[in-house]
Amino acid sequence: MLIFILLLSSSNLYSFKDSIVVGADNNYPPYEYVNEKGEPVGYNIDLIKAIGEELNLRVIIKSGTWSTLRLAFDRMEIDVLSGMFFSKSRTDYYDFSIPHSFVSYSIFTRKGDEKLNSFEAIKGKRIIAQKDDIMYEYLLQNNYSVIGVDSPKEAIISLATGNYDCAFISRTVGLYYINTLNIQNVLPNDSMMLTQKYCFASKKGNKDIIPQLNEGFLFIKDKEKFKAIEEKWFSKLESKNKPFSEYVRIALYFLIPIALIIVLLILWTLSLKKQVRKSVIKLEIELKDKQKAEELHKALFKISESASNSEDLNSLYSYIHSIVNELVPANNFYLAIYDHNRDILEFPYFVDEYDQAPASRPPRRGLTEFVLFSGKPLLCSPEIFLQMIEEGKIDSIGAPSVDWLGIPLKIEEKAIGIIVVQSYTEGVRFTKSDEEILLFVSSQIAMAIERKRSEQEIKGLNAELEQRVIERTQQLEDTLEELRFENMERKRTQEALEQAQAEIELALIQEKELNELKSRFISIVSHEYRTPLTVILSSTYLIEKFFEINNKEEFAKHLKNIQLSVKSMTKLLDDVLTIGKTEAGKVNVVPSEIDLIKYSKSVIEDIKLTDKHEHLYELYTNNQHIAIYTDLNLLNKILVNLLSNAVKYSSGGSLVRLEIIDKDTFIEFNVIDHGIGIPNQEREHLFESYHRFKNVGAISGTGLGLSIVKRFVDILKGTITVYSEEGKGSTFSLTLPKEFS
Ligand code: ADP
Repeated sequence: MLIFILLLSSSNLYSFKDSIVVGADNNYPPYEYVNEKGEPVGYNIDLIKAIGEELNLRVIIKSGTWSTLRLAFDRMEIDVLSGMFFSKSRTDYYDFSIPHSFVSYSIFTRKGDEKLNSFEAIKGKRIIAQKDDIMYEYLLQNNYSVIGVDSPKEAIISLATGNYDCAFISRTVGLYYINTLNIQNVLPNDSMMLTQKYCFASKKGNKDIIPQLNEGFLFIKDKEKFKAIEEKWFSKLESKNKPFSEYVRIALYFLIPIALIIVLLILWTLSLKKQVRKSVIKLEIELKDKQKAEELHKALFKISESASNSEDLNSLYSYIHSIVNELVPANNFYLAIYDHNRDILEFPYFVDEYDQAPASRPPRRGLTEFVLFSGKPLLCSPEIFLQMIEEGKIDSIGAPSVDWLGIPLKIEEKAIGIIVVQSYTEGVRFTKSDEEILLFVSSQIAMAIERKRSEQEIKGLNAELEQRVIERTQQLEDTLEELRFENMERKRTQEALEQAQAEIELALIQEKELNELKSRFISIVSHEYRTPLTVILSSTYLIEKFFEINNKEEFAKHLKNIQLSVKSMTKLLDDVLTIGKTEAGKVNVVPSEIDLIKYSKSVIEDIKLTDKHEHLYELYTNNQHIAIYTDLNLLNKILVNLLSNAVKYSSGGSLVRLEIIDKDTFIEFNVIDHGIGIPNQEREHLFESYHRFKNVGAISGTGLGLSIVKRFVDILKGTITVYSEEGKGSTFSLTLPKEFS
């Protein structure tokens, strides 16, 4: 066969080359790769070198990544690729030698992951394959989710480190890496898939090379050399016949445990009773431990809640004592708290069969201080106690106890105090376990105490603040009250001042008025008295004269003048007295039933009698029978004064009219004249005593009549108003109630 091929090849007249450049993948072991020394090695390399030797052909190997090799190959920088899978499509570009080997692909997965044995199974999975590899191209064309990596090594490592679902690479190459990298968690699937023809390849148009290589390959194929190459690169990878040592190893895996189990069974059988007993004891201990642990946790929980459940620090201490008593015998229990700032040791809680609670004091050299400052728990038996005294570590303070167990209470490594349980009886001894238990709960106790102390402190501060607020508020209120009082006082003083001022002003006005009144009184009285006195004097003189000549007529006339003058003086005196009486409030009202019409007529008649100028008189009334129940004297004074004035201040022959109008509950009186009238100026003084208006001229008067009228009208609970126009006349209109009461 070989001779035939040789003949065939020589007859085809190929132009054989002296040397060829062979491209080999640097990462496709065991076929072709670069070893640690940087040399291209592998099955393909050994094979092509062997062929080269046979053909007397110099083989130059160029290594590189598969992708770079493909590029160089396409650019014809490389004559031959030492390993390329045959495919129909590739034959358009490349010439392939007869396959020098067959390479199968397998799906590699991680151990324990789902096994993937078919193309169907890897659909939708994340697959790694070597970039530009035939399998990569296939998966890509068939829409698998494939990720390309530079080498199968990278694919295996990626998979081993937990990336992607599987790798689809050459089985041999994959196994090579699993072995050499000692990868434990990756393995190929059971079947080999897609067995590929693995050939030498040359670029199309470089035809001479492939026949040469075919020739060389066929030449060495049956030789020992070729077998040695195969043996060298593939024998260790997937040996179906495991070596004897392997069987021994497997056997040992099974036999040793079996033997051990048998021995153990024998031993177990022998010591069954003992073990059962031990187990029971162990279980009991475990149970006790569990119960103890539960108790401890309960205690811890109670302590953690204690700060918020206790009213104050004292009840907290007592509560802590009760919890400790549930854990260890704590008939004698005390709590010492160290005040770092004042360097004082306090004993806020102290329950002891023999000792009294010590007073707060600076630290001494007792067991309490020893634990406090060492920050370590101390279980002190009498022996240790004596030894500590001998060593000068402590002084003996308090009644000697059988056992003394002190645990520091620490907050962030700083001891704030200690708790101590003591025993004075031999029957009660403390153990290391008691110490551990108390140590276990001590930090919770410290925290609870610290929390309560802060809470109390805050409460205290709050209360103090509240008290200060109350005091300050009270102070403010007091000040406010004082200010209010001062203000009121000032107001009162002001008012008093104003009132005094007003009174003074009033007194001044009154004084002024009084002075004016006095001077007016004096001038009027002196005038009104002088005139009648002069009349009397001259009349007496004339009477004397006419008496001598016995002129009776003149005698009588002057006598009449004297009488009138006396009357006028008496009236003036009466008026002054009446004013005095009204001012003193000594006017008596004696009401009586008066027939007004009848009475009015009589008043008019009386006026007429003294009227020298003969006025016309008219009485008008809306009712012929009007009765009034009032004081007759006062009414008389009122009407006489008004009618006299009407007569006095109007010319003779003019009309003087009196209207009496019955108006159900009161009577209206209008005294109307057509005389000189009252000037507007100073009209407000009309009813004042001794006030007379300037237009009166020589008409005599005292200015007392209207003053008396006004006072009497007031006394009789009536009203009086004036309508007057100077030169035209006046109307004095008054009302009086029909029934005075
Ligand atoms: P007298 O008449 O004695 O002066 P009165 O007190 O009766 O005193 O009157 C006070 C003043 O009022 C009078 O002086 C007069 O100026 C004025 N007067 C009072 N009645 C009338 C009146 N009917 N017509 C004009 N003036 C009057």
